[in-house]
Amino acid sequence: MSDPLLKVEDLTAGYGAAPVLRDVRFAMSDGQITAVLGANGAGKTTLLRTLSGLVRPTGGRILFDGEPLDGVPPHRLVRRGLVHVPEGRGVIGELTVAENLRLGGVWRRDRAGEARSLAEVLDLFPEIARRRRHAAHQLSGGERQMLALGRALMARPRLLLLDEPSLGLAPRITAQVMALLRQWRDATGLAVLLVEQNVRSALSVADNAAVMSLGRVVVTAPAAQLRDDEDLRHTYLGF
Ligand code: ATP
Repeated sequence: MSDPLLKVEDLTAGYGAAPVLRDVRFAMSDGQITAVLGANGAGKTTLLRTLSGLVRPTGGRILFDGEPLDGVPPHRLVRRGLVHVPEGRGVIGELTVAENLRLGGVWRRDRAGEARSLAEVLDLFPEIARRRRHAAHQLSGGERQMLALGRALMARPRLLLLDEPSLGLAPRITAQVMALLRQWRDATGLAVLLVEQNVRSALSVADNAAVMSLGRVVVTAPAAQLRDDEDLRHTYLGF
């Protein structure tokens, strides 16, 4: 069998002496959308930050495409296809929409491929395309989220780490963002690790889910099972 795209083995990490992540284990394959769910403080953001090299693991292993990621700096991870969209989005308000998008492709070496990606991203997000000469700070929250997503897609990721894309968005816009994510996945085989407080919307887009509690992954299951199995939902998601 081929290696999973991402394999996390007994991962431990934190910000000081006390670990936040404790023996986290899970795997995901190409083209899979995995939701990471769990209460505030469960360690979801820390998991993404550790996977993208911003927090150093204190134990365990992260294998991306069969290769260990330990100590690989974040910009090199982007070249290898692992792109992180942090909570709060991080678009640069003073730059135009088009400039923000180009920044996402800055690590690429194939200029023709980059131009193709720009066309594809503008195609995927027509609202963004219409406003590409505007400064990013003029966009609405939903448009900024789409811009952040578009900028990440410009790097042609194989795995996107997406933190709370629904934060501050109206439900209709959240649904739109989730649908676009699925559309891009279907077209490119992108894998997404999606951290979400909005459990319903995450389960509507994900194939699988990992539920975290107190720094551990306490259950992994197909998203449909978590959606439909009342006992599982009660036990792990509290509704
Ligand atoms: P939320 O949805 O509230 O962001 P989360 O599941 O993403 O929750 P984390 O943000 O990963 O959880 O936080 C996990 C734990 O790590 C919390 O106890 C938090 O206080 C602590 N923590 C997070 N960031 C830092 C930091 N920069 N320095 C020290 N402790 C931190």
